[in-house]
Amino acid sequence: MESHIKIKKSSYTATRNACKLCSPLGASMAFKGLKNCITLIHGSQGCATYIRRYLISHFREPFDIASSSFSEETAIFGGAKNFNDAIKNIISQYNPEVIGIATTCLSETIGEDVKRLIRDYRSENKDVKLPDFIHTSTPSYQGTHSEGYHETVKSIIETLANKTCSNDAVNIFPGFVSPADMRHLKQIFNRFGIKYIMVPDYSESADNPYWEEYKKLPEGGTSVDLIREAANAKASIEFGHVFNRGTQTGSIKNHTKYNYTAGEYLSERFSVVCFQCGLPIGVNETDKFFDILQKLSSREIPEIYKKERGRLIDSYVDGHKIMFGKRAIVYGEEDLVIALTKFLSETGIKVVLAISGGNSGKLSSSLNEMIDSKEPVCTVSEDADFEDLSEIAGNIGADIMIGNSKGYYIASSLKIPLVRVGFPVHDRFGAQRISHLAYSGTQELYDRIANALLEYKQESSTVGYKYL
Ligand code: SF4
Repeated sequence: MESHIKIKKSSYTATRNACKLCSPLGASMAFKGLKNCITLIHGSQGCATYIRRYLISHFREPFDIASSSFSEETAIFGGAKNFNDAIKNIISQYNPEVIGIATTCLSETIGEDVKRLIRDYRSENKDVKLPDFIHTSTPSYQGTHSEGYHETVKSIIETLANKTCSNDAVNIFPGFVSPADMRHLKQIFNRFGIKYIMVPDYSESADNPYWEEYKKLPEGGTSVDLIREAANAKASIEFGHVFNRGTQTGSIKNHTKYNYTAGEYLSERFSVVCFQCGLPIGVNETDKFFDILQKLSSREIPEIYKKERGRLIDSYVDGHKIMFGKRAIVYGEEDLVIALTKFLSETGIKVVLAISGGNSGKLSSSLNEMIDSKEPVCTVSEDADFEDLSEIAGNIGADIMIGNSKGYYIASSLKIPLVRVGFPVHDRFGAQRISHLAYSGTQELYDRIANALLEYKQESSTVGYKYL
């Protein structure tokens, strides 16, 4: 097959300003979507502090994340004592139903055997009712925050899912999307009359209503009992192409057996049918998602979504003169970059540069499959950082950037608009309520992009147009 993309390698060996985040951050997000769960970062205190700071600034919500606080001594002799102290403290302070344990670069490098630490803790505390423990292996040198997230979702399912009697629910693994997107997905399932098990579900716990008093464990999240039922569901739906497949345990690039996802695990182990589609952004990908729901529910698409779809297409027609021929730079998590590129190709916007810090090898192949042969070449850079983006972007003649807030300084130096999507968004308010998914989420995104282009045109003109 002819390639429609040009692959650009980083000119630098070290990462200068990473276009990805740390893997345990993704794990912390996945654990946030479990009911009455506290995350323990098994490693240095700085890792937990950085993660808390990033999550709080994006969601503007409290994120209690514990740390086993490694010191020089722990790094040499192992973290068993710190682990035991941390678990005891978490239980006495929070009394959680679940403790999610994510390892960091340091604890993985010294080879901490967390499964043994859990076993030892259990046997030393036989007479006490203990919470469930879920361990996920998330060294950041092995994957991005997105891979850490998907790896953790898989660990949650592997630890808890338990085959008993079949039920008629559908598992939904939405990926690292916004709380607003999760609420919207749940509404869609309800309107199709499909019972669902969403893992994780931080639609409430990462976007709480006002509290009179501080709650150590916020409401919301999927319960352990419900997650156990995932093995008995009639199907699973998961969004993505890359998932956790870029991790070293199963790199496609090295042609080793690639890592499996939560849905693939349930399919393999418990014969739960697994449907995979890209993040439903844009008409085509949302159509694929709705086709699956139609099949699973044996129901017609609800009228409300037919209308939303129609309005979205109508806006593509109305906005064509604003969007057509514009050149975009898209960056961030690989699955989000793939979904946005696909969506933008529906609108007449040409993605001229797609960049991610992920290194699964899937970004360029997925984009190549979806780019029309009549289209000119799109430059793709994997395992890239923001300095790579800055160097390539300077010569590419882009009109707009679409990605997280960390690209702001580049958009500002290029004097082009930036539409903020995904994670993190640290320089705007309401990031947890940004919608991306399905027809209505795409509509919001489309309107934001069109308005960013109009605003730019208006502000860079000396005429003072009030009519565009
Ligand atoms: S040391 Fe590793 S786990 Fe800790 S913050 Fe840095 S990248 Fe993340």
